[in-house]
Amino acid sequence: MVKPKCPKCGHDTFGALEQQINGYMYNGIFICCVECETTVGVLDYGNYLKPLGKISEDITALKEEVAQLKEALGK
Ligand SMILES: [Zn+2]
Repeated sequence: MVKPKCPKCGHDTFGALEQQINGYMYNGIFICCVECETTVGVLDYGNYLKPLGKISEDITALKEEVAQLKEALGK
């Protein structure tokens, strides 16, 4: 199995660090080498949190509709 290595120092252990990015509305998750702190990748925070927020809003709206329907049915 291939094991990822830092392109700068060759170390093979990485950490995640949430960091603000100027000019971007979401924080990024920077994947960094734990040995030399070189950034090897960035995960887009908004790509997965934004859809989850929308799903949460939809569930809340559906719960309200169900409650209203139950009330209208007298249950
Ligand atoms: Zn490194």
